[in-house]
Amino acid sequence: MELAAPDLAPWRAGNCGVLGVTSFIADLPGPHVALMALMHGNEFAGAIALARMLAAGARPKRGRLSFVFANLEAFDRFDPDNPTHSRFCDEDLNRVWDAATLDGPRQSIELTRARELRPWLDGVDVLLDMHSMLWPSDPLILCGLPEKARVLARAIGTPKLVVADAGHVGGRRLIDYARFADPTTTARALLVEAGQHWARGTVDITEQAIAGLFRSCDQDGPILPCSSILAEVTATITVASANFIFLQPYRGGEIIAHRNTLIAMDGNIEIRTTHDNCLLVMPSLRPSRGHTAVRLARLL
Ligand SMILES: [Zn+2]
Repeated sequence: MELAAPDLAPWRAGNCGVLGVTSFIADLPGPHVALMALMHGNEFAGAIALARMLAAGARPKRGRLSFVFANLEAFDRFDPDNPTHSRFCDEDLNRVWDAATLDGPRQSIELTRARELRPWLDGVDVLLDMHSMLWPSDPLILCGLPEKARVLARAIGTPKLVVADAGHVGGRRLIDYARFADPTTTARALLVEAGQHWARGTVDITEQAIAGLFRSCDQDGPILPCSSILAEVTATITVASANFIFLQPYRGGEIIAHRNTLIAMDGNIEIRTTHDNCLLVMPSLRPSRGHTAVRLARLL
């Protein structure tokens, strides 16, 4: 592990009545931009980047800028000897963002936190949700399905790879929350997978993504794309059996040249590429039943 968990004590309480949310308003009007870290408690590269910005006194030029530490309760449980165990407490905070779940009767530590953040999120115009990855993979931006998010993701520039996808069967992500997913509103949200958990380079990529976001939001006129690579997910492979194995130790970002190439076995079901030049997005090398094993994508 190249990174130690950051000290977030100075920003824990926040300054706007919501735990873990620190917000500053500029004199000039503009969008409310939110930078979110710790959606997953053990992915703290984003939290390191935010703590640095807060310590340096970062303020918005226009509009409003918020810094958010999402799952503090899971982060508090981080143990370097058991670093994967503090992704969440009761359930994945990034799988609860549909109205039926948020308004429903179910209770969990993460749902309580999501319900606490929700009224504040309903005032956010641009959200960058900062993550890292367990398995080796090229960094990427997930933009969900809306065109408005795709346009913004391509303007950021780093990470270069932008993947448009529909999310997971296991529950709705924050970038798919109605406010951001609705094509009739202007609010947009992106998820950055900046590199491997606890690698120094992941903080660098996170900081570059934030800089790219500010550059895009601060300019007047239309948002212009950088030389990003755009891919659209064509299939999300969800594990059905107790025995899923990849035929090779794939790393995310690989392109499989030929259609119908066998890449994994899910019990006795063959998992094959669905088209030529098939991009593998974030293969999870030890996936469990009901979870996403890999997404297959087509380069556009
Ligand atoms: Zn994550």
